[in-house]
Amino acid sequence: MARLTMVIDTKKCVGCMDCVVACKTENSVPEGFNRDWIVTEVDGKFQI
Ligand code: SF4
Repeated sequence: MARLTMVIDTKKCVGCMDCVVACKTENSVPEGFNRDWIVTEVDGKFQI
């Protein structure tokens, strides 16, 4: 069975979740389930 991979430039990702919706639509994923998701993390120190 083929294994597919999505390669994403995380510096350009704006978190719009369109890839999540596209995956759900293309794979007929039932309501309430997802095959992928977006995780947003903020780390480090920032100047105020
Ligand atoms: S959430 Fe997905 S579709 Fe939206 S910018 Fe990020 S990688 Fe692209």
